[in-house]
Amino acid sequence: MKVFKFGGASVSSADGIRNSINILRMYPGNKVLVISAMGKITNALEIVARKYFNQDPDVWTIFQEIKAFHDGIVAELWGEVTELPELERLFTQLSNRIKGERSMNFDYEYDQIVAFGELFSTQIISLYFNKTGLKNRWVDVRNCLKTDDQFREANINWELSVRLAKRMFTFETEDLYITQGFIGGTLTNQTTTLGREGSDYTAAILANLLDAKEVSIWKNVPGILNADPDFFSNTIKLDELSYKEAIELSYSGAKVIHPKTIKPLQNKNIPLFVKSFLEPEKSGTIIHAVEHALELVPVIIMKKNMALITLTPNDFSFISINSVSEVFSLFAKYRLKVGLIQQSALDLSLAFDEPEQGIDILISQLQQRFEVKYNTDLDLVTIRYYTPETINQITNGRQIYVEQKSRRTARMLLK
Ligand code: ASP
Ligand code: MG
Repeated sequence: MKVFKFGGASVSSADGIRNSINILRMYPGNKVLVISAMGKITNALEIVARKYFNQDPDVWTIFQEIKAFHDGIVAELWGEVTELPELERLFTQLSNRIKGERSMNFDYEYDQIVAFGELFSTQIISLYFNKTGLKNRWVDVRNCLKTDDQFREANINWELSVRLAKRMFTFETEDLYITQGFIGGTLTNQTTTLGREGSDYTAAILANLLDAKEVSIWKNVPGILNADPDFFSNTIKLDELSYKEAIELSYSGAKVIHPKTIKPLQNKNIPLFVKSFLEPEKSGTIIHAVEHALELVPVIIMKKNMALITLTPNDFSFISINSVSEVFSLFAKYRLKVGLIQQSALDLSLAFDEPEQGIDILISQLQQRFEVKYNTDLDLVTIRYYTPETINQITNGRQIYVEQKSRRTARMLLK
C-alpha cells in the first residue's frame, strides 16, 4: 500500500485535478490519497475565522469568494454549472457556523472553520474521480486521526488512531481512498488541525499507522532543491537525503516538507519521495535510511520574519540553567518556536518565529527579570555544508546580528 499526497498547488485548478488522475493511474495497487485545501483556500479561511471571531460582517464577502472559487472548479470539471449535494451540505455547515454564537477560544473557532478547506477539496475530487471512472472511497479522516484538544497544533493519539485507521482503510472493496490532510478530531469529535502545511504530516502518520510501503508528496518543484528558487537562481536538485538530513533541512525552515513528517516514516523505515506533478516520470528526491555519508552541495535555507531577543539579568547575575529554564517555560507557554540560541556570561539570545500577536506581552513579562533588547523582521539563514563563498554570497552587504558555525552548519541572523 502506498500513500500519496497532493498539496494545494497541485489541485488549485481543474487542469491540476485532471493531471492528478494521470499520476494515480501510473501507480496500480492500493493507495491512500491525502489532499490539502485547494490553492490558497486555507489563507482565505483564516481570514474568515478572524472576521467571524471579531464579528466583522465582512466575513460574508470572503465566504462568497471561497464558494465561488469552488463552484468555478466544479463547473470546469463537470463542463457546466453543477450543484453537488455533498459540497452544498458542507457550505451550509460552514455558513451555519458563521451565523452562530462564537466561543471565547479563538484557536478552537479557527480549527472548526479552517478545516473546511480540506473537506471541500477532497469531496470535489473524490466525486470527480468517481465520475471519470477512477473508483475511490471518500473518508473523513477526523474519525480515525484522534488528537488531543490543543487546537491549531493538535497532538496525535497514536494508540487509538492505529486501531481506528486499520478499521477504516481495509481495502476490501476499493483500492483507492481519498482523505483530508491537516485535520483531525478529538475524542468528543471536535475538529482540530495539525499546524499550517500539516498535510505532509498527515500522509506520514497514515503511512506509519497502516505500514505503507512508501509515501510520495507531489509538488510544483522537481524535488528538494539546495535553495529556495524564489530567492536564488541556479538551484540544484538533491537526489537523495537521509532522514536526519531531511529533518535538519525542514526544521531550519526548508518549506518543501513539514518538519514533523520525517519521524513517523523513519520510525518504520518508510521511504519518502518528493516529486514534481508537472514531470511525474522524473525521479525527484528520495528520503530514506542511507548508511553512507552523503556528500552534499551547500544547502541554503532562508527563514523570514524572525525576531531576536537578547536578555541580560537585571541583577547582573550570570545566565544560569535556572534562568534559561525560566525563559524556556515562558516560550513554551506562548508556543514560540525557537530557531537559534546563543549564550554568554551575561547574555542569552534567542531567535524565534515572530508570532502573529506580536511580542509585547512576552517582552513585558521578561522585563521583570531581564534587561531586554529585541529586533524583528530578520532572516535566519542556515547553510548546511557551507563554504566560505556561500557565506560571502549570503552575507554580502547585510548586517549580521548573530552568527554560529559548527562543522557542517553555519547559521546567521541577518537584517
Ligand atoms: N491546507 C493546509 C495549509 O495550507 C495544510 C497543507 O496545505 O498542508 O496550511
Ligand atoms: Mg497548502
